[in-house]
Amino acid sequence: MTAETIYLDYAASTPVDAEVLDRMREVAESAYANPSSTHAAGRLTHALIAEAAEQVAGLLNVDPRTLVWTSGATESDNLAISGAARYRAHRGRHLVTMRTEHKAVTDVFDMLRGQGFDVTWVEPGTDGVLDPAVFEAALRDDTQFASIMYVNNETGVIQDIEALGAICRERNVLFHVDAAQAVGKLPIDLGRLPVDLMSLTGHKFYGPKGVGALYIVDRPDCHVEPILYGGGQQRRIRPGTLPTDLIAGLGKAAEVAAGRIEADLAHLRGLRDVLWNGVRDIDGILLNGSADGFPGILNVSVADIEGESLLLALEPVCVATGSACNSKSQEPSYVLRALGRTDLEAQSAIRFSTGRPTTPAEVEVAVTKYRDAVERLRAMAPGKAA
Ligand SMILES: *Cc1c(COP(=O)(O)O)cnc(C)c1O
Repeated sequence: MTAETIYLDYAASTPVDAEVLDRMREVAESAYANPSSTHAAGRLTHALIAEAAEQVAGLLNVDPRTLVWTSGATESDNLAISGAARYRAHRGRHLVTMRTEHKAVTDVFDMLRGQGFDVTWVEPGTDGVLDPAVFEAALRDDTQFASIMYVNNETGVIQDIEALGAICRERNVLFHVDAAQAVGKLPIDLGRLPVDLMSLTGHKFYGPKGVGALYIVDRPDCHVEPILYGGGQQRRIRPGTLPTDLIAGLGKAAEVAAGRIEADLAHLRGLRDVLWNGVRDIDGILLNGSADGFPGILNVSVADIEGESLLLALEPVCVATGSACNSKSQEPSYVLRALGRTDLEAQSAIRFSTGRPTTPAEVEVAVTKYRDAVERLRAMAPGKAA
């Protein structure tokens, strides 16, 4: 990144926190033995992993033994959904999820559909929020599993996980939550929330890339079939040599986050106000999502301008069109289409996402550049002006 880069893409990935980096370096240098080895060096590595489990468990208020290490939220989502659906196939073959989930969720359900499972895709309202009554109406006697995300990665919309989970508990449906955008950013108490499986990833909350975890509630009916086969690590649920340095980094990131969630949220709310107040009077501006979503994400459209052109005009401000995972394709975002946006509206969407290091000055530059870009691009295509 160059000096003038203004990074406003924290929903795609975050920088590694300085304390996390120190911890990873220390662990990588000193604890290189295989944690599965029973000699003294292996036991030391094993203890470091146990310590990281305590830190992540502390953030979520769970028993550390309920956590399985993975390579990130993509793997956690795959393991939870495909693993639980297959383990519980005898209970029924109906599964429920939402249209606006991340591809790491939707693609797994598409795969399961090809294996004889029946999937219902519930639709959120135009503000992106899923009505618990709509969710409940989609459940059937043979529904065995549901997956609903916590915070949407494109719009920041927050789902009512407590209400949705309570419905699942009542109906004996296993409930998975993709919380990649929520863990370390919103207070989450799994001692209280009715959630059976939860996916998280280090690089969305100032930890390293390539490491995540899956929480699996300690209950006999909640189990996952593995998606990887190999050694006996992690009770065979997820075999493979554990990356001690990455896991230690994830643990430290959880510990750091636990101590500052409210302060981070207050900071992000302030930035969001600057951003939204700076663009809300632009002719034809549309807020994608709900006004009370996660404050680190602001997604806006202006009907008559291409998002890709805006993205270029905004440089050196780094933002996203749609989501990072879909931005290589020219397809309008399926998430925004599900919120009732037209193709043109969805194509003009820009996601600003802020983080701990973001300053009000950076956000003000982004506002000025965005306003200028909209004006200039509209002047170039006067026939299409709103
Ligand atoms: C980033 C993200 C993922 C994927 O996480 P990785 O660790 O990059 O595999 C899954 N779901 C959501 C909601 C995300 O934001």
